[in-house]
Parts: sequence; C-alpha cells; structure tokens
Amino acid sequence: MNAPLPLTDTQLREVQALDAAHFLHPFTDHQALARRGARLITHAHGVHIWDARGQRIIDAMSGLWCVNVGYGRQALADAAYRQMMTLPYYNAFFQTTTEPAVRLAARLCELAPPVGGRAFTHVFFTSSGSEANDTNVRLVRRYWDLMGQPQRKIIISRRNAYHGSTVAAASLSGMAAMHAQGDLPIPGIVHIEQPHYWALRHEGETPADFGRRAARWLEDKILELGPERVAAFIGEPVQGAGGVIIPPETYWPEIQRIVERYGILFISDEVICAFGRLGHWFAYERFGTQPDLVTFAKGVTSGYVPLGGVLVNERIARVLIERGGEFNHGYTYSGHPVACAVALANLDILEAEALPQRVRDDTGPYLARRFAELTDHPLVGVAESCGFVAGLMLVRDKATLQPWPEAWEVGMICRAHCFDSGVVMRAVGDRMIIAPPLVMTRADIDAMIACIRTALDKTWAEVQQKAAAMHSK
Ligand SMILES: *Cc1c(COP(=O)(O)O)cnc(C)c1O
Repeated sequence: MNAPLPLTDTQLREVQALDAAHFLHPFTDHQALARRGARLITHAHGVHIWDARGQRIIDAMSGLWCVNVGYGRQALADAAYRQMMTLPYYNAFFQTTTEPAVRLAARLCELAPPVGGRAFTHVFFTSSGSEANDTNVRLVRRYWDLMGQPQRKIIISRRNAYHGSTVAAASLSGMAAMHAQGDLPIPGIVHIEQPHYWALRHEGETPADFGRRAARWLEDKILELGPERVAAFIGEPVQGAGGVIIPPETYWPEIQRIVERYGILFISDEVICAFGRLGHWFAYERFGTQPDLVTFAKGVTSGYVPLGGVLVNERIARVLIERGGEFNHGYTYSGHPVACAVALANLDILEAEALPQRVRDDTGPYLARRFAELTDHPLVGVAESCGFVAGLMLVRDKATLQPWPEAWEVGMICRAHCFDSGVVMRAVGDRMIIAPPLVMTRADIDAMIACIRTALDKTWAEVQQKAAAMHSK
C-alpha cells in the first residue's frame, strides 16, 4: 500500500482552505464546511480508510455504497493499467465496439437469471446510476411508443427513493429537499409512499399486513391515473439513501402482482443492492420479483472507476431492436473500455471469493445477529439488516419509539462520534445506516460493532447532558 505520512496541522489547513475556496461539493452546506474544514481522507486498504491525521477508520459505508471488494485490490489496478496501455478509450457509437464492453455485457446477461421465462439479453452502459435511470426514462417511453401506446408516459416512484441527481433521476427520486430546488419533479413522474413500517404502520398492524397495504398504494395510484397512462414503476429493492428502509416480505410479491395485472414495466434500481450486497448477484433474486429493467452502477466496479448501466429484458430489447431503428440516446463513455475492464476484474473477484454466497450464508446472518444486539442500547429503538445493509433508529423512548426533537440533530451527533470512535456510519435523520464492504470477516464485523457501541455510548452521554441542561433552564 502507498501510505502517505499524516499531514501537519498547517498542511491540513492549507488543503481545507483550498477545498473551501474552490471545490463545490455534492450535497454539502458550504458555509458549515468552511467553518469546520473538510475531513480529508488520504488512503485506504481492505475495509479501512485513513484520514490526514493518520486515524484509521473502519469504512462501514463502503465509500458511498460501492467499494464492495474493499480497497487496495491490485487486480483492479492492473486491469485498468493494462487496458489504458492497450486502448484507453474508444467509443461505441457508429457501429463500432470494444472487447471489454462486449465481454462485460455478455457476462452480466449470463449472471442475471431469467425472470418469468425471459432472459436479460442486452445491456446499455452509462457512467453512473443517474445516467442509467435517465436512460430508463427514455427506454420505457420509447418502448411504449413502439408498442403503439404513446399515451403511456407516467413513471411511478416512491417517496424517499433515491434514483440519482440528474434532472430526470432527481425527479424519479422522492426526496422533498431535492424537489424543493429547481422545479422538480419534471412532468410525468409521480410518487407513492414508501414501505416504511416503523414510520407508517397502523397501531397493532403486523409487518406482513403493512407490506400488502403499502404495495396497494401502487394499485391505487395506477387506478387514479388510469392504467393506460402508466408506463412503469421504479423501486429500490431496499431503499438506500432514504435510510435503509427494508420492506416487509409481503411487499414485493404484491408489487409484482400489481405490475403484471396492469401490464406496466418494472424497473428494479439495484445500484446499491446488486453484486452481492443482499447476498445474491441481483436483488430481484432475493425478493423474487421479475423486473424488465435493472439499473446498476456503484458495486459493478466496486467504485474504482465510474460505470453504470441498465440490464434490458428481452421483452423490451426485442421491441427496441426489431421495430425501433436508431435509439437516439447515448453517452461518450457508454461502454468505456477501461471501466468495463475493471468491472470484469471486479466480477472475477466477487466470483472467486464467492462474496454473494458468503454474504447470504455466513457474514450476512452474522451481521444480522450482531447488529440486532444493539437494540439493548438505551438509544436504539430498532436495529435491522438485509444482507450487508443495515439501519438503526435512535429514539428517545425505546418502548414507544418516540423520536428526539429534530432540532437536536441526534443523528449528526452520533455520526461525529462514529468518526471519533473509528467507524464511518451515515446519518439519515435519526437513522444510522451502514453498507459494509462485502469482504468483511466476522472479526471485522465484531470490531465494527464495538466501534458503533462506543459511538452510541458517547452520543447517549451527550444527549443526556443536553436533556439535563434543558431541564435545569
Ligand atoms: C447512488 C444511487 C443512484 C445514482 O447513482 P450515481 O452514480 O450517483 O449517479 C441511483 N440509484 C440508487 C439506488 C443509488 O443508490
């Protein structure tokens, strides 16, 4: 590993000043960033990252849900180097192709099991999940045009979904804070509620009953809009950025019944959930759904280089190819040979180390057990996981799940203590979430849980102090 020396305070402050002066960060309050100075990450290995002060931190978020095979994998660097020296770039427009893109498309189609007797036969490549979902919007509308039903335009998504940040993908996303900026969503995209049991259950309602009721919000919306106007439904198998919202087991089968009943297309956005994260190559295998289109990105290259795309089922591919002529859509980097070469090497690692199976049969169940133990902590209301994503709720009252006052930002307090305690967790409101690298061993999981416990203790101490101070006022 190429491990740089820790920075002196002066060196660190210089980088932070340049950062604040010139770098517009994604999803960041820049005044707060300038006040505090950005946390500078300098290097990484395995499941650990190091900051500029030399502190080693367990990366329980896999970067941003992507570094599935862990950091420092020589094979991925070698694949990129070899491809750059052979052919660093060539495009896939105008009837040309490159071998890494061809091999990767074929390999992904082979890895993705057929659904309802129909295979995934084609792949459209992009450089990100956002671009892949933009591609989906164009693909499903093109499909219905070619099918002679051009009035089928509307795509139904869910509140609190995250499908990316380009104009169409941000519209598909169901984040109120995103829609509040820039006149989103664009026309033709509507949202239903998310299957969030803890937030939306009725008193005494079982998860199974809730799951069916939540799925029927889709049917209600289809009937309200008129089925003949609905093009597709899009959903993340487990909502990620929305706070790791794991739907009850009854949810997806009911959604599948509804999309079939009304003949609408089903897009499974597996940008987080594919490539082993839920213990399978693809998340639709975990939930038994039958998507027509599968969005992927992040884990396909373990984040070493940008790559995304859409797996296209033969139902759609056939119509597009046999009736469509030219599909007027594409990116300069669609099928980028370096990205595809890295993806192939990444799939080799996932396969050789049997990471999807390991998560399914061994480390996933172990994580589930260790993570659930955190519910004995006074701050933790619910702690749940699915494969290698997990989330816990920080609550004021464990019995009633009463939340902390929003203004206290208990999630943010906890996130800061996680860093001090040597682990990266993400805060979504007061839900603390993780998506660890799939290479984590049982020992790594134990170390991660110990750090999380330390962070929870520190958070507990801080909020107790705060509550006492409020009380004495
Ligand atoms: C991250 C993410 C996206 C967007 O991917 P980018 O590569 O950031 O554009 C889309 N869908 C889901 C489910 C994601 O988690």
